[in-house]
Amino acid sequence: MKAPAFAYCRPRDLDEALALLDQHGADARPLAGGQSLLPVLHLRLAAPAVLVDLQDVAALRGIARGEGGVRLGAMTTYHEAQADPRLAAAAPLLALALPHVAHPAIRHRGTLGGSAALADPAAEVPAVCTALAARFELRSRRRGPRTVAAEDFFQGAFSTALDPDELLTAIVLPDAPPGERVAFDELARRRGDYAVVGTCVRLAGGPDRIHDATVVQFGVADRALRLPGAAAALCGRRLDAEAIDDACAALRDELRCEGDLHTAAATKHHLATVQLRRLLTTLAPP
Ligand SMILES: Cc1cc2nc3c(=O)[nH]c(=O)nc-3n(C[C@H](O)[C@H](O)[C@H](O)COP(=O)(O)OP(=O)(O)OC[C@H]3O[C@@H](n4cnc5c(N)ncnc54)[C@H](O)[C@@H]3O)c2cc1C
Repeated sequence: MKAPAFAYCRPRDLDEALALLDQHGADARPLAGGQSLLPVLHLRLAAPAVLVDLQDVAALRGIARGEGGVRLGAMTTYHEAQADPRLAAAAPLLALALPHVAHPAIRHRGTLGGSAALADPAAEVPAVCTALAARFELRSRRRGPRTVAAEDFFQGAFSTALDPDELLTAIVLPDAPPGERVAFDELARRRGDYAVVGTCVRLAGGPDRIHDATVVQFGVADRALRLPGAAAALCGRRLDAEAIDDACAALRDELRCEGDLHTAAATKHHLATVQLRRLLTTLAPP
């Protein structure tokens, strides 16, 4: 199928982009890498009157280390993020997740901001942002800038805190605590597909005592879910077989999965527990 007719605008800077969104409101859609938006148009699942192409907006690009974290311009592609050694050091969880996003050709065009704005519940970047407690910088022409925490940004499947006249300008990933260990895995039907079930784990503290833990799973509900019970079962303990059993038991109790077209909720629930056990086992001291 072919996309319905639309007007195409290619603003030269952020002010011009925001002015276009302000002028056209809900009739306009920002275009980032187009890796999700263009298929959606071609399938006629959306029909915006105006596409505002962000390719030339330099203010939306760049990876910068600032106070308290790394700031990723919304138009940073997956490929640029993967190729930046500073990012691999500052946000190792993101580095582990990126190779799971689609295929190299898509990673050259697709952007971190586009993925966050899309808010696909089975996507890797929203899950990593949730696990890292990322902050999202948004801007509209009328109301100026605002910053929204990950837990408030993702509001459901394909739903975020963004208003129609607003752009996501950057994602800020806070610095990891010293000595943090992270693990990431996902099960996909084929390499490069979205996750059936995916898990992010962060553990802070030495091998003999975990003092902070984060467990996030995605592909299981309408957005990536933090699992505070599984995390709490690990805190204050050595990561041994008993602690891993307790974390998996807590996960089984607290996780409420939603099935999808291919996978029943009960299957996802089982897979989520298996995945958490595997990740914790890889992080456990010998
Ligand atoms: C074959 C295939 C396989 C894929 N597999 C995966 C996968 O395994 N995992 C995964 O995560 N993704 C996957 N994707 C999707 C890919 O990651 C997309 O690139 C990504 O989800 C959207 O990024 P984009 O830059 O292409 O955004 P676009 O498609 O341009 O935009 C997506 C949405 O975000 C909005 N938007 C974009 N930028 C902004 C902004 N700065 N401010 C406000 N709104 C904005 C757009 O208006 C649109 O609604 C796949 C895509 C394809 C085609």
